[in-house]
Amino acid sequence: MLNLVLFGPPGAGKGTQSQKLIEKYGLIHLSTGDLLRSEITQGTELGLEAKKLMDHGILVPDEVVIGMISHKLDANRDAKGFIFDGFPRTVAQAEALDKLLESKNAPISVMIALEVNDDELEKRLLLRGKDSGRPDDANPEVIRKRIKEYNDKTAPVAGFYKNQNKFKSINGIGSVGEIFDGISNVIGSY
Ligand code: ADP
Repeated sequence: MLNLVLFGPPGAGKGTQSQKLIEKYGLIHLSTGDLLRSEITQGTELGLEAKKLMDHGILVPDEVVIGMISHKLDANRDAKGFIFDGFPRTVAQAEALDKLLESKNAPISVMIALEVNDDELEKRLLLRGKDSGRPDDANPEVIRKRIKEYNDKTAPVAGFYKNQNKFKSINGIGSVGEIFDGISNVIGSY
């Protein structure tokens, strides 16, 4: 099994690269952001609670996203592998993911981090906000809060995978194709 964690701040290009990875490697894409937005669209109780936090750029509680991922892993038992996008976003989530995968005997192969500076991120997110319809992309204050949440709570997750010798980083500035080639090169060695 090839289990990838695609890592990087909001706006780093994880979603775009995930689409290309699905096509090339036939992996199942698990994006907690997409899963949460689908709950919001369906108007579930979980979605309503999550929306209050997401609209302010705040992370939703660990147990909520861990539960969603656990459910999806169970529902895709025959998968060739998974791309985790936007998860794990805290060290507690990373520990929980290791436990979930332990029971499947299919650990994380590698974390691939896309490196993009804060100014570029803010520009990309505001641009995306013009047509994404996402409330959290429309407001500069919320964008800055998301980047702050990332730096405070998510950046330490890189250390978790560095300790396991599973961390690789790639320049996230360049053409979509160039970045994808960089990711593919890393995957090629697994
Ligand atoms: P981005 O990476 O561009 O910010 P996402 O779609 O990954 O967008 O996430 C949007 C929002 O959903 C986050 O700001 C957060 O509120 C919530 N969210 C997504 N994934 C997680 C997670 N793993 N843990 C906690 N909150 C999450």
